[in-house]
Amino acid sequence: MENKVYDVAVIGGGIAGYTAALALKNFKKDFLWVGVTPFGEKLFKAERVKNFPSFTGNGVELAALLERQMVVEEVPFTRAKIDGVYAAGGCFMLTCGKEVFHARSVILATGVETETVESASEYLGRGVSYCAVCDGSLYKNKTIVCEVSSKNYEEEAEYLAGIAKKVYAFCKYKNAQFRAENIQTVEGSIAQIVGEGRVSGVVTKSGNKIEADGVFFLKDAAPPAVLVGGLETKEGHVKVARDMSTNLAGLFAAGDVTGRPYQYVKAAGEGLVAAYSVHKFLVHEKSFATQNLFP
Ligand SMILES: Cc1cc2nc3c(=O)[nH]c(=O)nc-3n(C[C@H](O)[C@H](O)[C@H](O)COP(=O)(O)OP(=O)(O)OC[C@H]3O[C@@H](n4cnc5c(N)ncnc54)[C@H](O)[C@@H]3O)c2cc1C
Repeated sequence: MENKVYDVAVIGGGIAGYTAALALKNFKKDFLWVGVTPFGEKLFKAERVKNFPSFTGNGVELAALLERQMVVEEVPFTRAKIDGVYAAGGCFMLTCGKEVFHARSVILATGVETETVESASEYLGRGVSYCAVCDGSLYKNKTIVCEVSSKNYEEEAEYLAGIAKKVYAFCKYKNAQFRAENIQTVEGSIAQIVGEGRVSGVVTKSGNKIEADGVFFLKDAAPPAVLVGGLETKEGHVKVARDMSTNLAGLFAAGDVTGRPYQYVKAAGEGLVAAYSVHKFLVHEKSFATQNLFP
């Protein structure tokens, strides 16, 4: 556990998170910019970016320019996937498995997952989870269905297989490879989660039912309200004011996670506004006495 309290933790490696981190660097704040990959996976997929001022090219070229700036301006990036954000004793606690970070304020810039199973939110905490390490132990000798978004998450599926009796894996990529014998890959996609009160299984898009005690979505972005308890959302997006503040004091949000349009310029602009608002928040907030957080 890091015995350090950052001024700000920026969660999300996309353009919203990067722009916030760049501004915080200029404000000379002590910040942690944390994410799965710098600049986010989506940027690398854009075939042609037509709406970013003064830029012509594809996502890979834009990422190269951003990386150059990141190096020149010395903006540090920490690779980690945060699995929970909690308000704790006058600051925020961010968990990443057994690792813990603390910060006086947070900018949430985790983007959106476009592909989701509609009924998943109904069963949150009742069989649906986004974090193998957090909830896997609840499924000892049980049956789990998991949706594995990329090769990066095969390890989490293996972790679940070490606990559960059987794991059915819907892999969203080609050439999935698992060592555990109790993982069975399943073709197709999950259409619906079913169960009375709690999960009893899933129905696939081709109409097959698989009985299961739990469903895990192993992917980068969990819905924001899952990541941060008590965070107000509307239709899956974080509710923000014009200064990017949320209903939780000290927690701001920026980028796709706050809603449409899903565009780089909007995400970058909101990242900047969030950084200014955090700066203001830290200057005016007198109640954060950090000296005694780790007596
Ligand atoms: C194929 C494609 C083409 C596009 N083309 C364009 C275009 O031409 N022009 C345009 O303006 N927009 C385009 N977009 C939209 C654009 O990509 C998004 O609007 C932009 O990436 C949003 O930035 P963001 O920082 O809010 O989120 P993202 O770029 O999604 O970044 C969020 C990051 O947070 C990380 N993350 C999520 N949860 C966690 C966690 N718990 N812990 C740590 N990290 C986490 C994710 O891994 C991700 O890297 C395109 C999108 C796609 C998919």
